[in-house]
Amino acid sequence: MNFEALAATVSAAITDVPDFPKEGILFKDISTVLQRPEAFRAALSFFEHAARDSDADAIIGLESRGFLFGAPVAATLGLPFVLARKPGKLPRAVVQAEYELEYGTDALEMHTDALGPATRALIVDDLIATGGTAEAAGKLVRKVGGVVAGYAFLLELDFLKGRERLDATIHSLIHV
Ligand code: AMP
Repeated sequence: MNFEALAATVSAAITDVPDFPKEGILFKDISTVLQRPEAFRAALSFFEHAARDSDADAIIGLESRGFLFGAPVAATLGLPFVLARKPGKLPRAVVQAEYELEYGTDALEMHTDALGPATRALIVDDLIATGGTAEAAGKLVRKVGGVVAGYAFLLELDFLKGRERLDATIHSLIHV
């Protein structure tokens, strides 16, 4: 697989938005990737490769942009797709994992019965910054007896060193 070509195609479709949602943050807007089918397909090819490479038997999508990439990849590969959502959104029994924000904490939830025991799950999101969200997702997988097969992101903000918080293989298409 030609990752350089995929990265170039996806990269060209990402829009940098300075000072969103607040001053000093350079927001990486992937809505323009979704608007361009060639870039969207390139992104999905990358995630498909990550899922095959990590021998995943389920895909976990992180709310909300992780859903956009995780769900089509799971359907294409014939794997279950599982939602990791913000608190209060999932209707049945859940497990919860908290993570730190700049001010305070947030949490992710997953249905308790969403993964079978020992299921190898690939955790998918658009971007890893501090790694707190992905780390919490890993905890959810383990809480229900699953195994983290790996993590996959279109973008990794290297300078925030989020990968140091994660303890399985990390696939990142574009490093910033
Ligand atoms: P973190 O938990 O710090 O790794 O943050 C990752 C989550 O926040 C992901 O779901 C991203 O979509 C979002 N996020 C963080 N920083 C940015 C950014 N600069 N541009 C776009 N999304 C971001």
